[in-house]
Amino acid sequence: MNVLNELKRQNIEIMDNEADLYPYAFDTAPIGENIILPLAVTFPKSSEDVQKIVKTAKKFNLKIISRGAGTCHTSGCKPVQNSLIIHFSKMNRILEINKENLTAIVESGVIVGQLQNEVDRFGLFFPPDPSNLKVSTIGGAIALSSGGARAFKYGTTKDYVINLEVVNSDGEIFQTSKNVSKNVTGYNLTSLYTGSEGTLGVICKATLKLIQKPESKSVTMAYFNSLKDASIASCNIINSGLTPSCMDLLDKNTIDTIEKFNPSGWLSKEGMLLIELDGSLADIKYKSEKLIEILKKSYATDIVCAKDEIEGEKIWSARRSAFACTAKLKPNVITEDVVVPRENITKLISEIKTLCNENNITVCIMGHIADGNIHPNFAIDFSNSDEFKRFNYVKDKLFEIAVGLGGTLSGEHGIGKEKKKYLDFALDKNSYSYMKQIKKLFDPDNMFNPDLMF
Ligand SMILES: Cc1cc2nc3c(=O)[nH]c(=O)nc-3n(C[C@H](O)[C@H](O)[C@H](O)COP(=O)(O)OP(=O)(O)OC[C@H]3O[C@@H](n4cnc5c(N)ncnc54)[C@H](O)[C@@H]3O)c2cc1C
Repeated sequence: MNVLNELKRQNIEIMDNEADLYPYAFDTAPIGENIILPLAVTFPKSSEDVQKIVKTAKKFNLKIISRGAGTCHTSGCKPVQNSLIIHFSKMNRILEINKENLTAIVESGVIVGQLQNEVDRFGLFFPPDPSNLKVSTIGGAIALSSGGARAFKYGTTKDYVINLEVVNSDGEIFQTSKNVSKNVTGYNLTSLYTGSEGTLGVICKATLKLIQKPESKSVTMAYFNSLKDASIASCNIINSGLTPSCMDLLDKNTIDTIEKFNPSGWLSKEGMLLIELDGSLADIKYKSEKLIEILKKSYATDIVCAKDEIEGEKIWSARRSAFACTAKLKPNVITEDVVVPRENITKLISEIKTLCNENNITVCIMGHIADGNIHPNFAIDFSNSDEFKRFNYVKDKLFEIAVGLGGTLSGEHGIGKEKKKYLDFALDKNSYSYMKQIKKLFDPDNMFNPDLMF
């Protein structure tokens, strides 16, 4: 019996028309030379369905590619030859929101923004916020340990995963932990799976930690005549004891590109800090005054405070459009993601700018400055072979610079296929070797996302 019939016989919903499969050959990474279609996209409705798919794939010696919304920047959910895609759009239920335990139990296909809205109704908060949270899934966020602008104060997805229900390479369903907020009973498998990019198994359900929703927030934009001034101002804010819930840095190219394609009334300055404070109403009043005082002393040329939440959300919405706007500059856009110790952030940005100027590559730099996490957005024309060559040189150098400054290849987007050639260079020799052994132990047949990381 062929594999598709066997899946249908087990009541697994599948899609196998070539035309329908085409969109599943891509994510948001560059298209690449070889377009590979999966044999089928499967739509499980439960962990038991996932179990059947994995067992069938094992029987027919096929590969499994897990896919949430497919917004990954690193070719993390592109199919390989002889692969089945597991798509989680039919496993999208919020199973429980528990006010007493401060937890939510969700299926992998739940959209991050939907979960945030849902828990908000209970006065609760799920802080991880990848900029594309209106479409990206919890499964994708866990597999990449997605971050976002709030990581400095609240951490990334890894800080909110308590327990996972996973299907392993033998097709067994197992729990990585218990639904408890503290647990040192053996190794921390939940953490191992979080950020493992779907290479160790298929995540079906997650128990997530929630916190109380802050009463109020304020959004402030501060402009500077240089990125160095902006960077010093960010250190002054942190050292003052203010702990912003978000602090993003945008360079002039990013500001101008947003203004060009999504006019938002922003000023064309060398650098901008976008700062969000949250807390009780009394807290916010005190903290906002202190913030403005620090910004003035730190040579901010212009300070704009959102009047209310609606205006604040408009500012964030413009900021979230940075990738989409950069994509309009040239036919192709690549978002990179490097992270260094915070003390080296000014050096990192200045070296990236010099590198791109010297090689005539268009870059819009933005990032979560308080985390030392920078996203250079490169606008490229891949059909221009000379530009493509220069871009590849810049990309290699970018990672050398980040590692040279004590940093590494990714703060939140992961390694995928795109950065695997740099992994052994970025990691300690033993760490790299242990990671390869872990992959072998959990997935001896290299069935799960086989082309990623190593
Ligand atoms: C415009 C834009 C803005 C973004 N902003 C941010 C940001 O601010 N912060 C940030 O961290 N990231 C960001 N990203 C990167 C990425 O989109 C997010 O990290 C997102 O959370 C991924 O979710 P997804 O559902 O699209 O996952 P996918 O892209 O579908 O999958 C991502 C990886 O997880 C694996 N995977 C998915 N589901 C499962 C599962 N159930 N079990 C096992 N493995 C699984 C996939 O195989 C793949 O390797 C952004 C991307 C875009 C396009």
